[in-house]
Amino acid sequence: MNLIEKIENFEILPLMERANNITLKEHGRNISLERAIFLSWWCDKGDCAFCYMSTQKPNIKDPRSARRKVNSILAEAELCRRMDWNIEFLSGGYGSFTTPEIRDIAWNIYQITEKPVWLNVGITQELEEYGEEIAGITGAVEVANPQLQREICPSKPLNEIVEMLETAGDLGFKKAITIILGLGETPSDLEYLFELISKVGIDRVTFYSLNPHEGTPFQNQAQPPSLYYAGVVAATRIKFPKLEIVCGTWVDNLANIGPLVLSGATGITKFPLFKMFGTRYGKRVEEEVHWAGRKLQGTFTDFDKLLKGPSPRKELEPFIKRYIDKCLNNKSLND
Ligand code: SF4
Repeated sequence: MNLIEKIENFEILPLMERANNITLKEHGRNISLERAIFLSWWCDKGDCAFCYMSTQKPNIKDPRSARRKVNSILAEAELCRRMDWNIEFLSGGYGSFTTPEIRDIAWNIYQITEKPVWLNVGITQELEEYGEEIAGITGAVEVANPQLQREICPSKPLNEIVEMLETAGDLGFKKAITIILGLGETPSDLEYLFELISKVGIDRVTFYSLNPHEGTPFQNQAQPPSLYYAGVVAATRIKFPKLEIVCGTWVDNLANIGPLVLSGATGITKFPLFKMFGTRYGKRVEEEVHWAGRKLQGTFTDFDKLLKGPSPRKELEPFIKRYIDKCLNNKSLND
């Protein structure tokens, strides 16, 4: 039986066990906390069927008003540095910032964290403008089955994403893709995913589970079952032992974390950081990783690290203070 047949026949536990052994051998015990930093709440495309932005586009009259203040973005990067979170990527809808502006933000983050940044800013032909401040380029594939991908993301042609990633590789950048589970794919669609990873030489996959947003066609759809999610991740790990795998789970599904780590995740993501930090939800993330027998790099609870300052840039202080106050406030509400 191949990996896909094993998922179809509900043989998830043996897959997880195999995947776990491979992960420990190839990646060790560390699990990273990954934070996608958003640049804007605007997207020129605004037509991916599952996306929150697709519900917002008609309400935003001036796209520039949906852009975040750059100092607020940099303050978030400084807090990630303090808490030892990785910045998963800078993420923004199409048309929210120009390439020179994105490069400038990435360069400033690179100075703050001393780590080059990944980008997830849509299909672009302007990769040559980036340099040492960029670690890699992410293609937001979302669905690996080409026909389903066309239906769900009509303005993000798969062939153009692949071309961009190939150019990224030629320029020396790493390559990543994002995949959302629960958009109507089947286990057999993993064939498409595996082919894409091999053909393009993908270094990192981020899996998400569907978050059914109100106002989208998926609003009443259930999120994918935890063992299906685990099976997909485990099969991907077995097929690609060296691949970085990041798994996103929502705050209403924190119990997914342990099984996803045992299935091959090397990083976890998609948490509302400032709402969860220091609360029982943050503690739960740490406990999930602990009980999977892993060591969490970074903290969700250590206020000493969060408060450690001042930042090297005075102009960021008011923004940092605002985020810290939010964390302290949420903590007291949850105490
Ligand atoms: S391109 Fe990205 S941000 Fe824009 S609608 Fe699609 S998923 Fe949402």
